[in-house]
Amino acid sequence: MNIDERAEELASDLGVDREEVRDDLQKLIDYDVPAEEAVQSLRRKYGGDGGGGTPSAKDVADVTTEDASVTVTAKVLTAGTRTIRYQGDDHTIYEGELADGTGAIDYTAWNDFGLEPGDTITAGNAGVREWEGEPELNLGDSTSVSPAEDVEVPSEVGGDRSLSDLDPGDRGRNLEVLVLEVEERTIDGRDGETDILSGVLADESARLPFTDWDPHPGIREGASLRLEDVYVREFRGVPSVNVSDFTTVEPLEGEVEASETGRRMAVGEAVDGGGAFDVELVGNLLDVRDGSGLIERCPECNRVVQNGQCRSHGEVDGVDDLRVKAILDDGTGTVTVVLDRELTEEVYGGTLEDALEHAREEMDKGVVAESIAEDVVGLEYRVRGSLSVDDYGANLDATEFDRVGDAGEERARALLAEVDG
Ligand SMILES: [Zn+2]
Repeated sequence: MNIDERAEELASDLGVDREEVRDDLQKLIDYDVPAEEAVQSLRRKYGGDGGGGTPSAKDVADVTTEDASVTVTAKVLTAGTRTIRYQGDDHTIYEGELADGTGAIDYTAWNDFGLEPGDTITAGNAGVREWEGEPELNLGDSTSVSPAEDVEVPSEVGGDRSLSDLDPGDRGRNLEVLVLEVEERTIDGRDGETDILSGVLADESARLPFTDWDPHPGIREGASLRLEDVYVREFRGVPSVNVSDFTTVEPLEGEVEASETGRRMAVGEAVDGGGAFDVELVGNLLDVRDGSGLIERCPECNRVVQNGQCRSHGEVDGVDDLRVKAILDDGTGTVTVVLDRELTEEVYGGTLEDALEHAREEMDKGVVAESIAEDVVGLEYRVRGSLSVDDYGANLDATEFDRVGDAGEERARALLAEVDG
């Protein structure tokens, strides 16, 4: 074999640098890899189409990350649209899942093949790339897409889902949701300042945060909506619904019911998941941490100030506030539960003014945290809120904080009353 000639041929087939291919080929030959095998391996490495016509047809379940390209006949389960920036330019891409009788596979189409859920197609010469260890089909310029005879699939066709079914990476999803919260924000995006909407969506199954990158006027607090073609990303360990300019927003006739409870999870499971939105954890309160009780916040940035000093704004005139940072443990893990002023006032049994008065009387700001600790440490609590896990640890911002085990206490009291006669 003439290495230079083969390298030239490969480089032009694959559209890659000739010298690089030549070096790789030489290395493989030096290691006594048979010539044809070496060439095939480089075709795989550089993701070429094999150069020798259409690859043979495969069942979806048989597609592996070892394949350079395949031909599959499958039904389109979902089709989502999204714009990505690639090498400085915006590209519209089409993504979703394809399935045949043997299994399902994700695809990304770089051209608009007009794929619609329910269509059965033959994708000739679809590239295969690895994404998080799994094969994914790439439909591009060298792929031919043609209609095919309908195939039966065990998978659900279409993108309709409940919020609790969503996972990061999902695309082309349709939701029927209630907008619980929405706020307008201006962010410093890749194209300068951009207005976006962010907030919370709910259905009967769950609540999740969302971002609308192309503010839709229909997305208002209290609106029941059908959103078609959203995608899902992970934000601080939580699936977040992304609404784009490709998403259609239609009002619904009826009202969508919002879930009344958070998702019940074990602490360890929630922390290992990297975070969770609107969960309920139940555990014992082990300790009330420093920085609880009466605190002062920076009037500029709301950060907690220490000795009148803000980390960003230097010496400031702090604003009084109340909070609790407490450690909750259920045997599977621990989180720091953060109670805001309102919840802290409930636990303390007094207002911020009462707490300030209390501290003045005792000439000690620490009495407020001490008093709270006496009331809560060692008891079992149910906490609802959103968990974030980052360099600062696992923190749950509580929206609800309730004693559990009161029933047991009542039983004990009743029993004592009986014994005492
Ligand atoms: Zn500050």
